[in-house]
Amino acid sequence: MNWLGIPHIAVDPAYTSKMCPKCFNIDDKNRKGKSFVCTVCKHEDDADHNAAVNIGQRAFDDEVKKLFEKYPYNTNKRHAALKELFKQRHRSYMSIKPVA
Ligand SMILES: [Zn+2]
Repeated sequence: MNWLGIPHIAVDPAYTSKMCPKCFNIDDKNRKGKSFVCTVCKHEDDADHNAAVNIGQRAFDDEVKKLFEKYPYNTNKRHAALKELFKQRHRSYMSIKPVA
């Protein structure tokens, strides 16, 4: 807890600037300067706001938390596991919502 009584949660910011919070597509091309446009689902946002949304979601994501506990010191392994988790979510998004 900090002095405001808000619990402090450590969040790994890996991929938050280039990941789509709707379909979990991770792509460098999602970010174009100040704007974010998902190459898959066309979700649009301000690039900084998009990253903040991803960080906010991640703070309360139990699966992400588990990876953080599993690899607290091994950044490479943690990032590889994070990427794999989001790839799986992207695949399940794609199987539920086919691209029109
Ligand atoms: Zn998307």
